[in-house]
Amino acid sequence: MDTKNNIDRYKLKQKASLSGMGVENAPENYDWIENIRNFNMDHSLKTRKTRKFKLNVFGCQMNERDSETIAGMLIDMGFEEVGEHDPADIIVFITCCVRENAEERVYGHIGALSKECEENGSIIVACGCMMQQPHIVEKLKKSYHNVKIIFGTHNVHTFPKLLYQYFNNKKRVIDVWEKEDRIIEDLPVKRTEKHKAWVSIILGCNNFCSYCIVPYVRGRERSRSMEIVLNEIRELAKDGCKEITLLGQNVNSYGNDLGQKNLFAKLLNAIEDIDGISRVRFMTSHPKDLSDSLIDAMKNCKKVCNHLHLPFQSGSTRILEKMNRRYTKEGYLNLVDKIKRQIPDIALSTDIIVGFPGETDEDFEDTLDVIRKVQFDAAFTFIYSPRRGTPAEKMEQIVSSKVISRRFQTLLDIQKDIGTDLAKKVEGKTVEVLVDGPSKQNPNILSGRTRTNRLVNFEAEGVKKGDIVLVDIVRAGAFWLEGRGGKVIG
Ligand code: SF4
Repeated sequence: MDTKNNIDRYKLKQKASLSGMGVENAPENYDWIENIRNFNMDHSLKTRKTRKFKLNVFGCQMNERDSETIAGMLIDMGFEEVGEHDPADIIVFITCCVRENAEERVYGHIGALSKECEENGSIIVACGCMMQQPHIVEKLKKSYHNVKIIFGTHNVHTFPKLLYQYFNNKKRVIDVWEKEDRIIEDLPVKRTEKHKAWVSIILGCNNFCSYCIVPYVRGRERSRSMEIVLNEIRELAKDGCKEITLLGQNVNSYGNDLGQKNLFAKLLNAIEDIDGISRVRFMTSHPKDLSDSLIDAMKNCKKVCNHLHLPFQSGSTRILEKMNRRYTKEGYLNLVDKIKRQIPDIALSTDIIVGFPGETDEDFEDTLDVIRKVQFDAAFTFIYSPRRGTPAEKMEQIVSSKVISRRFQTLLDIQKDIGTDLAKKVEGKTVEVLVDGPSKQNPNILSGRTRTNRLVNFEAEGVKKGDIVLVDIVRAGAFWLEGRGGKVIG
């Protein structure tokens, strides 16, 4: 990485993007990166050691993408990234509050680090969605003394300033912006992978589904300019990236806040012209906002993969209303029919919540009816978890945890059968795979994803990470395909 150029670029952009934001000393913001870098260089000269950092990322792809920015800033500041089991000077937690168990895991991990912090003088930095909730910041302040820096989802870019303040005063620094502000562009980034990348196109959410905390912790929808997004993708392509995933809580709303209709479909069409990019994915799509122009773009754009993640959450119209999802069971099924008519080889995946307050046996049967009718390749299933401050938190729960567990298992079993039956149809066929590297289960074989987002483990000679290859599928299960061969085609 060319650190000097990165800092110069960052300086210029920070100057432009922070002016008028009401941030104190905004024009100096870029200097904090350089100040800490000088401070780290002095330390390296004296001790012959480089200060280290490691990241703990929880939750969704938006957090994964934020973690790339945080890593980019730390590297530009002169820190070196280490693995999860290595000692580090700075341990960053990028947190998620969508479900209670993710929160509990964060507390558990931070608590377990107290010995490492005492022995090595390490400090913990906590950021991400959990920090937007005052009761959580209070708990960390009171009970977790090794957490020295706290910031929220709206001011990730101020991290260098906060770190500088901590290094100068050795006092805990907490700065959580209550409200979202304009998008800060061109922060340093350390991409996790070279052959594929996440590209945020819209931040926040306006939908206020009654169970969801996201609009409260990520703010209202703000779209990035299409030109900036396209430039980022062009740069990624020049750097060897073949697949991009466009990210947003609801990508279908992209451009609405800019007063531009159907901008997401226009974006997909514009990406078709970028040489080097072979595959385009996106997530997540709210069914109520999935337009005909988007279906047309998915059908006509060769680079857009034939996979759509379309959360339905519940098959019961009654429960959907309580969830404030603003579509019905019939509306969802009609939408799926329309998509399948236009794109017959589309693979669908979804999110489902089991045990929403008041869910009856009949409501649950409606959910099963939807998965049987739609035939999803994959379903991400969750047991309802009440979130503080959401309307659903105040709804009366009439379903026992025993019943919810039974329903959950029934859903898993049925979906597993559906997924297996669909996978079996691929046996004996040749599929296109983008290679992610050695398989996590068996490092002697390779692993990658089909255009329909199925995981493929396969044996092949002369194939490397980032290649696009043709693989013959010899065996299929619900969760992965097994293949042989690998003629490189891209
Ligand atoms: S669309 Fe609904 S579930 Fe998705 S982030 Fe927005 S409020 Fe949450």
